[in-house]
Amino acid sequence: MSALPLPWQEATWAALNTSIDGERLPHAVLISGDEGIGKSRLATALAQRLICSAEMVKYACGACKTCTLFSAGNHPDVSYLAPEEKGKPIKIEQVRKLCVSLGKTAQQGGWKVAIISPAEAMNISSANALLKNLEEPQGKTLLILVSNRPSRLSATIRSRCQKLSMPTPDTQMALQWLTDVTSDASAAAQVLPLAGGRPLLALNYLQSDNLDQRQQFEALVSDVGTGAMSPLAAAQQCQKLDGEMSIEWFSRYIHRLATTELADKPNPALFSFSDKLLLARNWIASGNNPNPQMLWEELFMDWAMVFKRRK
Ligand SMILES: [Zn+2]
Repeated sequence: MSALPLPWQEATWAALNTSIDGERLPHAVLISGDEGIGKSRLATALAQRLICSAEMVKYACGACKTCTLFSAGNHPDVSYLAPEEKGKPIKIEQVRKLCVSLGKTAQQGGWKVAIISPAEAMNISSANALLKNLEEPQGKTLLILVSNRPSRLSATIRSRCQKLSMPTPDTQMALQWLTDVTSDASAAAQVLPLAGGRPLLALNYLQSDNLDQRQQFEALVSDVGTGAMSPLAAAQQCQKLDGEMSIEWFSRYIHRLATTELADKPNPALFSFSDKLLLARNWIASGNNPNPQMLWEELFMDWAMVFKRRK
């Protein structure tokens, strides 16, 4: 199997191919952009393109021995670095281990590639350990950093990487892709806006029970707003939800509310509440493990207040 870039990544892909063919590929690239637009796919496609042993190809062939090893997740010269537990930082020991493996000669005689995702999960000591490797790159080595929040990476790391900022694709292209993949044009059209136009996130919604979960969550949010449910009861139902994801849903719910129902009645409390959500999300993303009951209680209590003031 061959990992291919997505249709909206073709321009970036063409530029990468030019660099590879001209042997001008840097030692590190930073693929950044919103979650759910296919950054990991680009990283995988690039890694496979580099290790593929077929000659003169624009994409990995998907059939050679190295491609087969790659697809099975067994290629000895491709490493993946991610937090051992979701939401936790990438540890310095993990980075050190990676650096040792990158320092060795490629077993298949070609490129050595490491994908670090999400790169912002590296804490200061992990990032420093990686920097050393970026300063002394070994031969045909490529580090691919993938990040939803590149501003959280140290300036030194960012400056050592070639930046590939990936935009959210335009709606038509995203919709076409989602329809092709799911063979369901109406579901695609329904879900893409809910996913903020991010096609891989939309696909994730369609392939999992995320959409149901999200609708249930929005019903809770609405009930707390109208006073039909108490903040405490709502908080209890949110304990098992993924914190970052549900706060993202909350933010998008508010955005929808502010641009539709409340478009003519701007409510400053709504905006300060949005800031609060952003803080909560950053707090969770930074690897702090807030008590979910307390976090949601506080958020829902404030949320209820937004509407008390309005009435
Ligand atoms: Zn191949």
